[in-house]
Amino acid sequence: MNWLLVGASTVAQEWIISAIRAINDEVTCIVSTDLVRAQNFARQQSIPNFSHDLKHALYSNKVDAVYISSTNSLHAEQAIIALKAQKHVMCEKPMALSITDAQQMIEQAKIHQVVLAVNYHLRNSAVIQKMRELIASDCIGEVQNIRFCHAVSLPKNLQNWRIDTPSEGGVILDITVHDIDTLRFLLDDEPISVSAMAQTGLISPNNVPETVMGTIEFTKGTLVSFYDSFTAQYFQTSIDIIGSKGNLQALNTLTQHSTGELHLNNDKGSQAIPIEHRNLYISSFQQFKNAIQDQGRPVATAYDGLRSLEIALAIQQAIENKMHISLTSGESLCF
Ligand code: NDP
Repeated sequence: MNWLLVGASTVAQEWIISAIRAINDEVTCIVSTDLVRAQNFARQQSIPNFSHDLKHALYSNKVDAVYISSTNSLHAEQAIIALKAQKHVMCEKPMALSITDAQQMIEQAKIHQVVLAVNYHLRNSAVIQKMRELIASDCIGEVQNIRFCHAVSLPKNLQNWRIDTPSEGGVILDITVHDIDTLRFLLDDEPISVSAMAQTGLISPNNVPETVMGTIEFTKGTLVSFYDSFTAQYFQTSIDIIGSKGNLQALNTLTQHSTGELHLNNDKGSQAIPIEHRNLYISSFQQFKNAIQDQGRPVATAYDGLRSLEIALAIQQAIENKMHISLTSGESLCF
């Protein structure tokens, strides 16, 4: 397939271009809001075409699929342009900044009969997949509680729109959306209520949330506490899943790298579970390509993207209004 990339981004440069090439697809064009940046990016990444006009680029290049990794506020508008041009779209998270925009993206994908997916790469983690399998096989019994620690130190080169721009930045739209998606995947269950508090001021000049701590309650009764941060130095991410018959602990797996270890603790003691790691992004793009060829579904569908956005927005609402927010599918209600 031929891919057009939207946004001369760090994630495209570090991970996505090599993943697309690893599945024997071509990156044919880069579109940036800045023509000089597009040109430089094209030269550095050996991409034959560049542009700063998305509509023109879609019609003047041979394009099957579009990958969008612009800043968050541009995702919906750019995706809708690509979907209307009948291109399959892999969009970065969060897929949009409003539920209405996300729903419009889904609608356009349906109308034009193309695949729309959201790049929740953590679903491909071998550690997370093993945890999901062990939960589903009742290895740890009923899942009572989860402690989800996804706190990192935001690299200096990414300390721009993520911490400067309240409308599209902040840890909730950047990291918490991953937690929500990973939890829905692990538990095969839906959140029913959320509460949270946030902290700012260490690196953000504009009161953008840098750290958030909160709780998510799921329909089957699991209660989750989460801790997400841009400002945690020398810290290791972790997921602890406490069940009625044992618990699972994943260390250092909430990352872009294929890393992490998994331990099972139960009445037989503590056991390291063997893990065969794989590249998370290659898996996302291979499965997306398979879905286009009617062989299965993307790793995370547009609906998954919509759900994680809805719940992230409810968490923002809980923080702003100092309230516990209850959720129903597609909307949130206060109590
Ligand atoms: P970057 O800040 O590196 O890039 C974001 C956008 O900013 C680029 O697409 C580019 O858009 C613009 N840009 C790049 N360089 C400059 C510059 N010097 N001055 C001004 N603008 C610039 O962000 P990331 O790559 O970290 O993130 C991009 C998207 O990908 C986000 O939506 C993020 O949430 C998502 N992401 C997802 C990950 C995952 O694993 N699923 C991992 C990391 C990020 P343009 O060229 O059009 O101006």
